[in-house]
Amino acid sequence: VGRRVREQRVAEIRAEALQALAHLDVRSVADIDLIALAKRLGVEVVFDGLDGASARVVRLRGDRARITLSDRISDLGAIRFSLAHELAHLILRHVLVLDGDPFLERVCRPLREDGSDLEREASVFAAELLMPESWVRPMCGGSHVSLDTVRSIARTCRTSTLASALRFVELTSECCAVAYCELGRVRWVKRSRAFEHWIPTGRLVDPTSAASDYFRRGAIDDHPRLIGADAWLPRRATDGSGVRIAEHATIVPELGAVFSLLWVPPTEALHLSSAA
Ligand SMILES: [Zn+2]
Repeated sequence: VGRRVREQRVAEIRAEALQALAHLDVRSVADIDLIALAKRLGVEVVFDGLDGASARVVRLRGDRARITLSDRISDLGAIRFSLAHELAHLILRHVLVLDGDPFLERVCRPLREDGSDLEREASVFAAELLMPESWVRPMCGGSHVSLDTVRSIARTCRTSTLASALRFVELTSECCAVAYCELGRVRWVKRSRAFEHWIPTGRLVDPTSAASDYFRRGAIDDHPRLIGADAWLPRRATDGSGVRIAEHATIVPELGAVFSLLWVPPTEALHLSSAA
């Protein structure tokens, strides 16, 4: 039941995002003007210093609101995602209450993809608003997984590489996953529908993986590599079969983190399923 309720809620949020989009005069994803949307809603948008957060929304008197975006974020895609996320809190009428405060406010780190249900809801809304399924799904076709596809979504939609990778994983029919790593550990994983393997979180990034290069030398070679699948999957899933997994890692400068796009090449898939 819990899962069905969640899926229902996600569908409602996506519908709200598409409704907001319908109010803008949008003929392509490049036309999605968040400042215009903010104006329509009576929301002022400012840049300022924010201690450790990337965005904040405050409800002001008289049905107005102010969104503050951290002036430390320079990536346009990250700025747009943060703004869409804060607008979502207002449009979805999330309670912004802080105890006893005359103003209602909410402080967010929307680029980190962890946090409460309301945080996730706002990010679901932001992803649908900036990368509407009807436009982005056709870009996720193709018969192979690649960070090039992710980057082309990011360019077209003016979104961050990370947000675009998560959207790609949501919409593709290929077998792939995004693994987000911080401070040398796997923090969280998002899998495509077809990716049935389990990637444990919390473990140290394997030294043979591309992601580990970032934590050891602060840089990453920008091309995919094939490595032993047990660098990411639990050993019992690979069972010493020598099966390999493809990894293309990239740095998220705003967060001092790295994420890897992982996929199982067709030649390896057969071995993996027989070993599992
Ligand atoms: Zn938030």
